[in-house]
Amino acid sequence: MVYRSEPPTHTIAEKLAMANETSSSSSSSLPVVHEDEELIYGSEPGWVEARTSCDHLGSLSADLIHIPTPNTHCNRCHHPNENWLCLCCKDVLCSRFINKHMLEHYQETSHCVALSYSDLSVWCFSCDAYLDAQVILPLRPVYETAYLLKFGEAPPFRTG
Ligand SMILES: [Zn+2]
Ligand SMILES: [Zn+2]
Ligand SMILES: [Zn+2]
Repeated sequence: MVYRSEPPTHTIAEKLAMANETSSSSSSSLPVVHEDEELIYGSEPGWVEARTSCDHLGSLSADLIHIPTPNTHCNRCHHPNENWLCLCCKDVLCSRFINKHMLEHYQETSHCVALSYSDLSVWCFSCDAYLDAQVILPLRPVYETAYLLKFGEAPPFRTG
């Protein structure tokens, strides 16, 4: 990510004052507002970079072509949403924001790599990080299969 290396020339209060002046004298205040939006997005605290490597892929299932459909319910509490697919044993379990069944599964079995059926992100509990399924080759097939099941078409990077 690229951060601004220099502080803004004006404070937010000054910019708002400028925007108000601009909008009262003419109809176009958009450039100033747009710049403020960029500043806000650039410092967004929730953003994390996905890892491009992981040392815990040795226990991945040998058959990740045949996986449960993305609308499968949690195997323990049958919650319909926010579920994860364990990429080691293909169990479908709910997220830490529902009843934490995937987290419990990791604590019980050490199966640490899971794919979200909500947004198809891949999480490694051992790395405590998201994994980039487009870069880490062992994760690509299951990502592609899940994407196909969820959206009915292959993901953009697919070559064959
Ligand atoms: Zn559950
Ligand atoms: Zn598992
Ligand atoms: Zn890992």
